[in-house]
Amino acid sequence: MTRQRQLIYNIINAAPEHRTAEEIYDLARAEMPSLARGTVYRNLGLLVQSGQIRKLEMPDAPARYDRERRPHPHLICQVCGQVEDLVAPEELLGPFSIMTPGVTLTGYDLKLYHVCPACQAGKAGPVARKA
Ligand SMILES: [Zn+2]
Ligand SMILES: [Zn+2]
Repeated sequence: MTRQRQLIYNIINAAPEHRTAEEIYDLARAEMPSLARGTVYRNLGLLVQSGQIRKLEMPDAPARYDRERRPHPHLICQVCGQVEDLVAPEELLGPFSIMTPGVTLTGYDLKLYHVCPACQAGKAGPVARKA
């Protein structure tokens, strides 16, 4: 693994946050100021391809990157976009199997939405999120 890729991987692996490429770029540049944006994006792609991290596509927002490689549902704030991991019960796919008779499900991508406590209190939002 190149030094750059290791740095990017470490940033993602260090925290449960599901950061965007831009957030990862900012953090990586703090450590390695010469790092180019394109290098970050390219290495994120390679890490996803090799299965070391997961990419979480977000509707109408930049994708986020996840250190947790096992399949798991996400709880997403509709206001600020904050993402939390949920622990799924083993039989999670059961109800979906009912909808797909004769099909063996191999995985899922489940996003549940809410308004997080900070947004409910009006303390956070798309602008205040970084503070
Ligand atoms: Zn929120
Ligand atoms: Zn996750």
